Amino acid sequence: MNRFIPVNEPLLNGNEKKYLNECIDTGWISSEGRFIKKLEEDFSTYCHQKYGITVANGSVALDVAVRALKEKHNWQDNDEIIVPTFTLISSAQSVIYNKLKPIFVDCESVTWNMDTSKIEPAITTRTKAIMVVHIYGLPTDMQPIFDLAKKYDLKIIEDSAQAHGQTYFNKKCGGMGDISTFSFYANKHIAAGEGGMILTSDKDLFEKCNYFKNLCFQPEQRYVHNDLGWNFRMSNIQAAVGVAQFERLEQSIKIKKQMGKKYRELLSQIPAQLPMPKMDYAENHYWVFGIVLNDDVKFNAQVAREKLQQNGVGTRPFFYPMHQQPVLIRLKLSDKEYRPVSERLYDRGFYIPSGLGLDDEQIEKVVKEIRRLF
Ligand SMILES: *Cc1c(COP(=O)(O)O)cnc(C)c1O
Repeated sequence: MNRFIPVNEPLLNGNEKKYLNECIDTGWISSEGRFIKKLEEDFSTYCHQKYGITVANGSVALDVAVRALKEKHNWQDNDEIIVPTFTLISSAQSVIYNKLKPIFVDCESVTWNMDTSKIEPAITTRTKAIMVVHIYGLPTDMQPIFDLAKKYDLKIIEDSAQAHGQTYFNKKCGGMGDISTFSFYANKHIAAGEGGMILTSDKDLFEKCNYFKNLCFQPEQRYVHNDLGWNFRMSNIQAAVGVAQFERLEQSIKIKKQMGKKYRELLSQIPAQLPMPKMDYAENHYWVFGIVLNDDVKFNAQVAREKLQQNGVGTRPFFYPMHQQPVLIRLKLSDKEYRPVSERLYDRGFYIPSGLGLDDEQIEKVVKEIRRLF
């Protein structure tokens, strides 16, 4: 029997083992340690931001980033942040945990990123920031967002959890926000198992992030606290893997692009929309390879996914839109208004095995099973 093809397998054949051994041999296993410093410095430099702050994962990176902005700029409870509806719950919940209100904007059908033409009508006198999320491999079209941020004096939060090494024209993703966040979860371009990073060039935000992620300790009076924070520290063990993964980021992106190219060629005839290979501002990095079934296909994504699962191919559904989330409706944080593009994407879309560990034989088997669906 053929082995099941999981939706993601990481590739850990660089210096990961060597650096992990160094942690154990030297005893540097906590959040103090050289790999933490190195990852913060090297990754922030790479993205053209002055400061990097490692954290436990990409979700809490957002929690801390939004809190730091709220404190610095004295935002009030219920002030509003524009958030794409087609994203992971982490993006929206960071706003909610900070007692701010997410305003959900639909995505557009070509890149699946936030539809920038729908942002301005969503801006009110309470709007303080736009949260950008780069989805599945292509960056969000940033120029309209820069323009709106300037016109309405809004901050930009850049959730780059799926976009390590991606660029918008020549600007690095994660280098364009007033504050930006990354995830190092096992399926991201840099996989530390779990882990995350906040980037900023603002010293005040940098200091606030370090303060909140570290229980609001004060250097002068360590056990005297003026605020309640969190322990969201990342360990040197995770950073060791992260540093090794960062060393091979360009190579990983190359592998992903080849995977995307191969899938596109082999799947060109199926009745479904495939990811755009490029826009004028970026080439697709195919963080994941998504497929959206045409409307005339008689079955939906869920049915397709079940069949593929039975035939040994792992998949994941597309994001369930934020404005339809039961919890956000219950909390009265959704207007429940129809957002046609994201609702259709959830119904018709799913992604197929896209990990760095995927080999050509597996790609061919995935393609064969997808073709068989039709
Ligand atoms: C993965 C991801 C996160 C959260 O990262 P974790 O490390 O899993 O907490 C946040 N936003 C987006 C867009 C992501 O893809």
